[in-house]
Amino acid sequence: MTYQQGMEAIDSDMLEKVAAMVEQLDYHQYTGHDVKRALAQDRLSIEDYGAILSPAAAPFLEEMAAKAIAATRRHFGNSIQLFTPLYISNYCENHCVYCGFNCHNRINRGKLTLAEIEEELKAIAKTGLKEILLLTGESRYQSGVEYIGEAVKLAAKYFSTVGIEIYPLNTDEYAYLHACGSDFVSVYQETYNSSKYEQVHLEGPKRIYPYRFYAQERAIRGGMRGVAFGALLGLDDFRKDAFAVGLHAYFFQQKYPHAEISFSTPRLRPYINNAGNNANDVHERQLLQVMLAYRLFLPFAGITISTRERAGFRDHVIGMAATKISAGVRVGVGGHNEAEKGDEQFEIADPRSVEQVHQMILSRGLQPVYTDYLRL
Ligand code: SF4
Repeated sequence: MTYQQGMEAIDSDMLEKVAAMVEQLDYHQYTGHDVKRALAQDRLSIEDYGAILSPAAAPFLEEMAAKAIAATRRHFGNSIQLFTPLYISNYCENHCVYCGFNCHNRINRGKLTLAEIEEELKAIAKTGLKEILLLTGESRYQSGVEYIGEAVKLAAKYFSTVGIEIYPLNTDEYAYLHACGSDFVSVYQETYNSSKYEQVHLEGPKRIYPYRFYAQERAIRGGMRGVAFGALLGLDDFRKDAFAVGLHAYFFQQKYPHAEISFSTPRLRPYINNAGNNANDVHERQLLQVMLAYRLFLPFAGITISTRERAGFRDHVIGMAATKISAGVRVGVGGHNEAEKGDEQFEIADPRSVEQVHQMILSRGLQPVYTDYLRL
């Protein structure tokens, strides 16, 4: 837990606030009566949020969905944003037991040159997409901040919105990447249970739990427009982790009201050399409950549904809770223009193209949105 040299410590008590409330959560105490009371509210309290995440809410998914659809319409209309990820490197210095990129997994490693990145970007831009998420494994040595900055500058030439999902940075580094053209930062805590966190992060800088926890604050202080929160559902008690994710975002929004907030809801997936890596007790019904709970607790927050989930589930949740969906996805290094230069992070469950996802969105009476942002 001790910060490594060079890791910036900021003055914030958000971690203690979230941890204290998660510690107190006993979701078995909630009853159907508590869930009904929560669903009768216009604005859910933290207590209500605990109730709708509890097992007692399982029989009320239809009521939750109806309320979630109304909230989604109120805040997002019928728009569904489209984006795709571009992995530019899969080198990683961490040993996370659940991830195909972990430093001990024997996979083909690769990193795109800047010229290769530009060709990938051009190929993706031809599909009509205007939003891109650049990803790396977590290796400062292989994928330094300047390399990522150059990739962001290239991406900003072709895309109106550039997000990054990389290792956590200091405030000045986020400011640098923002100046290069990036506006959004995704950092997922994986699990908020600090003991479990240590058990599944065996080596590398990612072991420093609080440095990761405070990444979103450093990103916003560095000038980023928005940040994403999430836990890898299935690693630990998913109800507690989802409760913690919601509280993290809730306290964050109170402190930084100008920040755009979104959630992601990744579940464990099989990866190369570990076909048995799965989401344990988080089945689709449980995943849906978590997504609906996020929507009802923070109705203005975006929710992204990734290709970790099968097409039928993704189609079902857009417009109900999810407001953003990926399409034309590759999770190896590159792969949009040339063959992939490095192996993938996990198995995807929905390989549909941008055009196919576009048509699906229309068929559900929703509007595919490629950009809501004009870069001046
Ligand atoms: S989850 Fe991230 S940090 Fe961990 S092994 Fe995978 S890429 Fe590396």
